[in-house]
Amino acid sequence: MVDESGSPEPLLEPPEAEEENLFNKKTVRDIDINNKRVLVRVDFNVPLSQGRVEDDTRIRAALPTINYLRRHQAKVILVTHLGRPKGRIDDRLRLDAVAERLSEMLDSPVIKLDKTVTDEVTAAVSRMLPGDVILLENVRFNPGELTNDPVFARKLADLADVFVNDAFGTSHRAHASVVGVANYLPAVSGFLLEAEITHLTKIIQAPRRPFLAILGGNKISDKIGVIERFLDNVDSILTGGGMCFTFLKAKGLSIGKSLVEIEQLETAKNILKKAEEKGVSFYIPSDIIVAEEISGETESKAVTVDKIPDGWMGLDIGPRTIDVYRQVITRAKTIFWNGPMGVFEIKNFAQGTIQISEAIAKQTQRGALSIVGGGDSDAALKKFGLEDEVSFVSTGGGASLRVLEGLALPGMEALADKF
Ligand code: ADP
Ligand code: MG
Repeated sequence: MVDESGSPEPLLEPPEAEEENLFNKKTVRDIDINNKRVLVRVDFNVPLSQGRVEDDTRIRAALPTINYLRRHQAKVILVTHLGRPKGRIDDRLRLDAVAERLSEMLDSPVIKLDKTVTDEVTAAVSRMLPGDVILLENVRFNPGELTNDPVFARKLADLADVFVNDAFGTSHRAHASVVGVANYLPAVSGFLLEAEITHLTKIIQAPRRPFLAILGGNKISDKIGVIERFLDNVDSILTGGGMCFTFLKAKGLSIGKSLVEIEQLETAKNILKKAEEKGVSFYIPSDIIVAEEISGETESKAVTVDKIPDGWMGLDIGPRTIDVYRQVITRAKTIFWNGPMGVFEIKNFAQGTIQISEAIAKQTQRGALSIVGGGDSDAALKKFGLEDEVSFVSTGGGASLRVLEGLALPGMEALADKF
């Protein structure tokens, strides 16, 4: 039952002894890096606004690896992409602001180069001292990056003695700086990639039960693979956000102007059927907050799902649904959450996401393992001040979903095996 009294509740049993190693690749711990030139693929694909880094989460996530390499006297050459420049130089996607922020975070200079693999770059690298940090220019300015061109990969590799992949968010892409370069250098993992894979693998391979998945956000199509995989693995699924309306429609309800993916209706029906066959408790909202438009000014109200007025759209889960969902959360020992429950960016439609994320935080405090994936879910946690109250926030969107689907990441496959 949901504890309304605020009285202390018994903790869940402590986690079982650490499961066997869930990460079978060599890491920076397993290789000599002293005085070596180390090329590190990071994912600094951060949002910029007016020439400044707007959110430095992804830079922060790579600091443990960068700091470790510097402490161990490596020469650190960082390479990342930013945005989608399609193999051409785009001055708006240069990395100067990223270098500046990184330098503040390291409290140490970062040498930003304006090229990726030219003679000037080679010369700058040859002048490096142990502990120095270079940031190469946006690797996607080079046409060979996306095509995984071996000639380009070789040029990148020639800059260094060792390759480290710490770009978890890009590791589902077989690009030159992620995969190709590993053909020419000893290649190991950084700490971020290791932590991401370990956490995500743990929940699919050895979840403590009940295992609950909470899925929202705006698109079913992005998440079909994961939902189908989860049907074999989880005990319950809670749905919300824009995606639940495709399920409501699949059940024959009228959903007004709510978000829907008509081409996914059959899939949604199939998912509902499979969930029943497999004994997965699949929750769909029983009430919804509706409004005539997505705006903070317009009237909004709670209605049961069979009474969504024509011309109105569902923008959050309703209070009855929140109560039910909170109760399910208080029983879970493993929780994966991806996708906000409503348009949390607007106050009138934020309650579902607030209450659900608070319930997850509380259950984490009681001993559950909670993992959150997805950029907007992470933004919601930050907005509500809860980002430190969950067990792990994954920095990768597509990459985390792939891991949860049980698919291999090319950027991880390319690394040296531990045993
Ligand atoms: P994540 O980035 O965490 O994977 P998504 O990108 O799938 O999440 O979805 C996040 C977006 O979904 C948010 O911007 C939110 O406003 C939107 N959203 C949530 N609920 C609804 C809804 N009922 N109707 C339309 N959009 C919604
Ligand atoms: Mg998103």
